[in-house]
Amino acid sequence: MWMMQALLTKKIGLTHDVYELHYELSQEKEMKPGQFITFILPGVWWRSYSVLRLEWKNAILIIKKWPMQDWGRGGSIALCDAKIWEEFKSVWPAGHFVLQENTTNKLFIGTGTGLVPLYNQIIEGLKRDTWERYQLVFWVRYLKDMFYVKEFEELKEKYPDRFYYHLVVSRDEDEWIIKKWYVTDFISKNVVEQYSEYYLCWAPAMIESCQEKLEQLWVSWENVFFEKYS
Ligand SMILES: Cc1cc2nc3c(=O)[nH]c(=O)nc-3n(C[C@H](O)[C@H](O)[C@H](O)COP(=O)(O)OP(=O)(O)OC[C@H]3O[C@@H](n4cnc5c(N)ncnc54)[C@H](O)[C@@H]3O)c2cc1C
Repeated sequence: MWMMQALLTKKIGLTHDVYELHYELSQEKEMKPGQFITFILPGVWWRSYSVLRLEWKNAILIIKKWPMQDWGRGGSIALCDAKIWEEFKSVWPAGHFVLQENTTNKLFIGTGTGLVPLYNQIIEGLKRDTWERYQLVFWVRYLKDMFYVKEFEELKEKYPDRFYYHLVVSRDEDEWIIKKWYVTDFISKNVVEQYSEYYLCWAPAMIESCQEKLEQLWVSWENVFFEKYS
C-alpha cells in the first residue's frame, strides 16, 4: 500500500446525494478492479471508497453524502463538499474483493454506491478477449436514487451478447424500465443455473440476505465474493 496525495479535479452530481468525484493522484500505481482507496481525513480518522475507474494518475470515485448524525464523523460530507483543487491524504490500493481471472459467467448485485467496484470489475472483464457473460442487478430504493442508466445502456450496446443489466427499485410505484422488487427476488434457481460466480456489494444486511438466498440454492460460498460497506 502507498501513501499519496489525491487532488480533487472534478465533481459531478449524479443524484440528490451521490457525487462522481475525480482525483489526480500524486503517483501512478496499478490496482485491481474492485479495490479501494482510503482517505485520511482530519477529525474523521479514515474512510474507504471503492475505485470506479483508474486511468494513469486519474481516479474516479462515486460517493454518497450521508447526513450528519450525533455519533457520525462526516467523512462523506468532507469529501462531497470539498472544493475543486482541495487535496487529501490517501492510502491505496487495498482490498481482496477483486475480479477472478477465469471465464465463468458472473452475476453482480449492488445497491446505491455499492455499484462502484462492480462497475469497475464489469468493464475490465468485458475488455478481456473472452466470451463469458456479465449480468448486473442494480437496486435502489427510489427512482430519485438511480444513476448511471446511460452508462449501462452504452455498455449493452457495445457488448450486446456479454453484458446484461436489470434495474430494480424497491419502494417507488413508478414502473418505468424498472421492476419493483427487493434485490434478492432476482436470485432464483434459473439464475444460479446460468451463473457460476457472484459479486455482492453494499451494506452488511443486503449482502447477508443475498448470501442466504444463494446458500438455499446450493451455491458454494467459494463462488461468492463480497465487499461490505460498514
Ligand atoms: C471497502 C469499503 C469501500 C467503500 N466504498 C464506498 C464507495 O465507493 N462509495 C460510498 O459512498 N461509500 C463507500 N463506503 C462507505 C464509506 O467508507 C463510509 O462508511 C461512508 O461514506 C459514511 O462515512 P461518513 O463518515 O460520512 O459517515 P458518518 O458521518 O460516520 O455517519 C453518518 C451517517 O451515515 C450513515 N451511514 C453511513 N454508512 C452507512 C451504511 N453503509 N448503511 C447505512 N447507513 C450508513 C449512518 O447511519 C449515519 O447516519 C465504503 C466502505 C468500505 C468499508
